[in-house]
Amino acid sequence: MSAVAHAEYIGEILVRHGVIDAARLIPLLDTVRERGQTLTELMISTNVADATKIAQAFASEMGMDFVPKIDKDAIPFDIATRLPITYAKQHLILPISEDDTHVYAVCADPLDTTAVDDVRSIFGKPVEVSVAANQQVLDAINRVWEKRDAGQSNLQGDKHDEEDNLVDIIDSDDDAPIIAWVNSLFALAVRERASDIHIEPEERDVVVRYRIDGELYVARRASKQFMAPIIARVKIMASLDIAEKRLPQDGRITLKIAGKSVDIRVSTVPTSRGFERIVMRLLHKTSVLLGLDDLGFAPREYGIMDHLIQRPDGIILVTGPTGSGKTTTLYACLNRINEPSRNILTAEDPVEYEIGGIHQVHVHPSIGLTFESALRAFLRQDPDVIMVGEIRDRPTAEIAIHASLTGHLVLSTLHTNDAASAVTRLVEMEVEPFLVRSSVIGILAQRLVRMLCQQCKVPYQPTQYELKQLGLDEERLAWKQRRTISPRYAVHNQVYEYVGQKMGDEPVFYKAGGCDACMNKGFIGRRGIYELLVIDDAVGPLILKNADALTVKRVAIAQGMDTMRDDGARKVLRGMTTVEEVLAATQEDIIVDE
Ligand SMILES: [Zn+2]
Repeated sequence: MSAVAHAEYIGEILVRHGVIDAARLIPLLDTVRERGQTLTELMISTNVADATKIAQAFASEMGMDFVPKIDKDAIPFDIATRLPITYAKQHLILPISEDDTHVYAVCADPLDTTAVDDVRSIFGKPVEVSVAANQQVLDAINRVWEKRDAGQSNLQGDKHDEEDNLVDIIDSDDDAPIIAWVNSLFALAVRERASDIHIEPEERDVVVRYRIDGELYVARRASKQFMAPIIARVKIMASLDIAEKRLPQDGRITLKIAGKSVDIRVSTVPTSRGFERIVMRLLHKTSVLLGLDDLGFAPREYGIMDHLIQRPDGIILVTGPTGSGKTTTLYACLNRINEPSRNILTAEDPVEYEIGGIHQVHVHPSIGLTFESALRAFLRQDPDVIMVGEIRDRPTAEIAIHASLTGHLVLSTLHTNDAASAVTRLVEMEVEPFLVRSSVIGILAQRLVRMLCQQCKVPYQPTQYELKQLGLDEERLAWKQRRTISPRYAVHNQVYEYVGQKMGDEPVFYKAGGCDACMNKGFIGRRGIYELLVIDDAVGPLILKNADALTVKRVAIAQGMDTMRDDGARKVLRGMTTVEEVLAATQEDIIVDE
């Protein structure tokens, strides 16, 4: 990539991350062309952008750790100086440590892949890169080379540097190893994208497990003698009562980890071993907000969903068990319609992501701020769109309906297994069926399935049984073809082909392998599988007649609705996930025939 193309690429990223306005970027790019200076140097030297913000944007773009302050004295100079100083300064990259499998480097521009490649070939190992501001990297390079020149004795003298005060304080503290150990648990959890951290006392040691993409993995072990201080440290951080060991407690920690603000909900429960077990849920406030088109909707469901959320009124419900990604979907919907012309209010428990331009309220039932009372207050705030975290009871349901009928779009969630059951759930809450019929416009049910690592997935020929389980056997496909699809579902109707595979060919499925890219798990990340029920002229009358969920579902399928399992089958055929993932996620999904 030429220097100018690289600058344009970097500029586009910085605009997207809000570091610089697109309008201010253009003259800078002209200067880059003329002078051959790098874009980031130019931006920093002319004070157009802050070096730290630039580094943070790079880190977040590349999914790398951001290092606010490099611990210069912890860098072994025999590792750092394997890269020549002129090269290090020119590319602003510095190797900082090494283990059996990787070399770790900090750099100012992770998009400078040449530099990263060179470090890899010098060390003969993959490079794990973190990002710091230009000056930080430059200072670290200078410090390391000074140290090498002056020899080890200089280390003592360095302690007077005021930047190192933090290190001194930690060194002098008796509890320091525990603090550092607990802090590193959080840092590692964020790096590995863990959603939960479990700290559990076992017979001989303390086991720390992370939940990543829905699965638990052992992340660390510590000797049992550290159990009490580890628990005490977490409880202090969460402002819990350290002395109380016999009752469960709940607390909260807010941390900044690698430039990201993370809210952590902490729960302790006493166990028979005499120690408490701790479970912490990580809420990444600044984690990437997904767009509606990142959720993995099939084109047709995407089209219908996008149409529904643009409507001025009505209720859209997202259903599924805890941890099925409902909140992510709601945020993506809000993000899609988030324009200055719309007043968008949300009541959430808790606020998981902060979205600019949207007014988000954290409900506190203990002080009387419930979903219901928040919703009532919202109606006096001249809203266009209201999102309420969950409809749990009749009063909340009734205000949501009232809001919808008085010209507002309402988004919310319900705990039901599938889309059709949401209708009956509302009626069970003693909401009048005609109110449900006249307000609810669409119901999305969803589950998360793990996505196969594309580097190491293994193709195979599915058995007839597997095809039948996914509704991909000839008999069922033929039945689907015979249906008369209602106009509502007919948009983008490309559904029943083997996507990316030719009809008549033997279909190919994939199973998980294992490689470095996926840390030998065979999967990376999760996506939703969806079922979108539109309340139309076929389904509406069933609500008024108090029909059961199965009847509603059967009619909707005959109209053209795909079930979560159908959507899962499509993702299996695309090589995105496995048949096991889809079947496990859709156990309750009854196959409905005509
Ligand atoms: Zn892999």
